[in-house]
Amino acid sequence: MGMTITEKIMASHAGRSSVSPGDNVWVNVDVLMTHDVCGPGTIGIFKEQFGNDAKVWDNTRIPIIPDHYIFTADSKCHRNIEILRDFVKEQGIRYYYDPDFIQGEGMPNPYLDPTKTTYKGVCHKALPEEGHCRPGEILLGTDSHTCTAGAFGQFATGVGNSDAAFVMGTGKTWLKVPPTMKFTFHGQIPPYLTAKDLILAVIGEIGVGGATYKTMYFAGEGIESLTLEDRMTLTNMAIEAGGKNGVCDVDQKTLDYVKARSNRPEWEVYRDDADATYCYEHEWDLGTMEPMVAKPHSPDNKDLARNCTDVKLDRAYIGSCTGGKITDMIFAANLLAGKTVKIPSYVVPGSTEVHQDMLKLGLNGEPVEDVSQSVYAVLEAAGCNMGAASCAACLGGPEDTFGRLNEPINCISTTNRNFPGRMGHKEAGVYLASPLTVAASALTGVVTDPREFVDEPIATGSAGVV
Ligand code: SF4
Repeated sequence: MGMTITEKIMASHAGRSSVSPGDNVWVNVDVLMTHDVCGPGTIGIFKEQFGNDAKVWDNTRIPIIPDHYIFTADSKCHRNIEILRDFVKEQGIRYYYDPDFIQGEGMPNPYLDPTKTTYKGVCHKALPEEGHCRPGEILLGTDSHTCTAGAFGQFATGVGNSDAAFVMGTGKTWLKVPPTMKFTFHGQIPPYLTAKDLILAVIGEIGVGGATYKTMYFAGEGIESLTLEDRMTLTNMAIEAGGKNGVCDVDQKTLDYVKARSNRPEWEVYRDDADATYCYEHEWDLGTMEPMVAKPHSPDNKDLARNCTDVKLDRAYIGSCTGGKITDMIFAANLLAGKTVKIPSYVVPGSTEVHQDMLKLGLNGEPVEDVSQSVYAVLEAAGCNMGAASCAACLGGPEDTFGRLNEPINCISTTNRNFPGRMGHKEAGVYLASPLTVAASALTGVVTDPREFVDEPIATGSAGVV
């Protein structure tokens, strides 16, 4: 019987010729990622279970990427960074991306130049940028949005601290093979949609528990027409439907990116066999889809943006691993160019590389000589509050977090979760939407269909690729 991408990856990492959904297999893990929130807990369990003097299984395969609670004066958050620093030194961890501006007490000054810091920003964005994502591999991370890396044709999923500590010590984990759900998109992505609209439609269709412990496979020429970064938005939100992982086919866009970035030279590309079995299939025609929002307080509370024009907004937020990539910034900047936002609007780059690209790329994704034409300058001129790369208000964080919803207000956001309290105040209402819809809404102060402002394709050039 034919196998899916996920089944083939699991079989190859278990040393078997085939596996089927429901099989439990021991697999060799290629990469284990952790960050400042779960790293200290994982390290504690690793030491408790393997011994205080134990060595990690492979210090070149455990990238540690602080990103969550960075720009805060909270001393407990800074203590987490110290624990990571000590562990990195002790173990000789090769890939550690230190927020070098955190020294001592108080609110750290953000990096002055995004090219001159060892800090990278949000782990799921930094992982591929720094060469840790490859087709055919198994990547685990102590963060539920580790599934983002499935856009690169690999098996990627989040694990808890105990499982991560076991992997840290052994390089192995025990996985049940998930059945695969196939979501096919026909046609080409129109200028007013981004992958965010597609994934909100999927989650709205199947519900937040609709893919529990299943693979979400995104297929069809509609997916091919997306940039690699936009595919990351799809796989990023697989977990919002309960998915074990999300995955896309590998194409030339993937190969170009991975060849330019990977810190290892070899990888394997897998594809679904023609007779692979799916537990669920659904198809969409991109030509008939419309801009979507997920209303408070669940990512499956879907509606069309044009149905929500009576929703008055207090804030707009563009950022996170879902919606803080350079292509997201280019989408928003094109819409906001030459205009002024009507409500307080916050922009947070997903990584220091995104921040750097915002400073050097223009509205078509190509380098500009005149910095006043850069994506960064355009967003700033439109009246946006510009932040430094990090998770920032995506998960609320300490009260002094940039962009945090400290009042019971309505916010439209490019992030991935809108549960009560996710971005701060428990009574705040968060509307999830694409960067186009968020930017359009920032201009009007109510939920707005971006078709009011966009009628031509927005080029993103080589942004997010090289
Ligand atoms: S940006 Fe948000 S969703 Fe992404 S890793 Fe950070 S907190 Fe999690």
